[in-house]
Amino acid sequence: MSLRRKLLKAKPKGSGAAADRARTQLDAYIGAQSLSEEALAKELHSGIAAARIGQIGLASTAEPSGLSCKAGCAFCCILTGDDGGVITGAEARNLHVALAPFAGEPDGREWTAKACPSLDPETRMCRAYEARPMICRSYLSVDVTACEQIAQGKAAQGTGVRAAYGTYLTAHALARAALGPGHAPTYSLRTVAKAAVEGVPLEDALKAARHRPAELEHERKRAAL
Ligand code: SF4
Ligand code: SF4
Repeated sequence: MSLRRKLLKAKPKGSGAAADRARTQLDAYIGAQSLSEEALAKELHSGIAAARIGQIGLASTAEPSGLSCKAGCAFCCILTGDDGGVITGAEARNLHVALAPFAGEPDGREWTAKACPSLDPETRMCRAYEARPMICRSYLSVDVTACEQIAQGKAAQGTGVRAAYGTYLTAHALARAALGPGHAPTYSLRTVAKAAVEGVPLEDALKAARHRPAELEHERKRAAL
């Protein structure tokens, strides 16, 4: 059976609607690429395909009105959980490549201990902006005070991720279901960024940051999929 056909039949956990939406968008993406089976398997495994359909989703839907987000406003880059964000293999590699030139320089943790190591501690701008993963591209807020409270570990309303983030996560879960166990892994954003700015080589950083398989499903649950 072709990989494209396996994707059409794959059944990740969670809601049928989210899986159907991700499957349709993934199938349209694959149809437009004309990739060999081998190249398609690589795109699915690395998360390139999932990230592309996520980015297409962000670009093709309007942002909510009344957003408070602006450059240098970085409470959302204070990584409050243990893990600091779920990213794919391609995103982990791109993040490491973008940050490696900053190895040994002061990083976001000089601003505040739990800040993402990708941050510039002076400007509070992301030093890996072009390579930032889907979680960073999707998160937004209509209330910066809520962001500050969440960064302090308090509950608050007014922030969230755009729907395309859920489509991306579910597309990656579909890829894993089609490719089989051990494929389409995820990684910790915090661990990759920390390793890069501390000069840890790419492959060692990826090894340290690789998640247990269950983490993708946990993140899908957190995103209510
Ligand atoms: S999500 Fe919150 S902290 Fe991040 S840029 Fe927007 S308003 Fe600022
Ligand atoms: S990668 Fe950049 S945008 Fe994402 S959390 Fe880190 S500093 Fe913020």
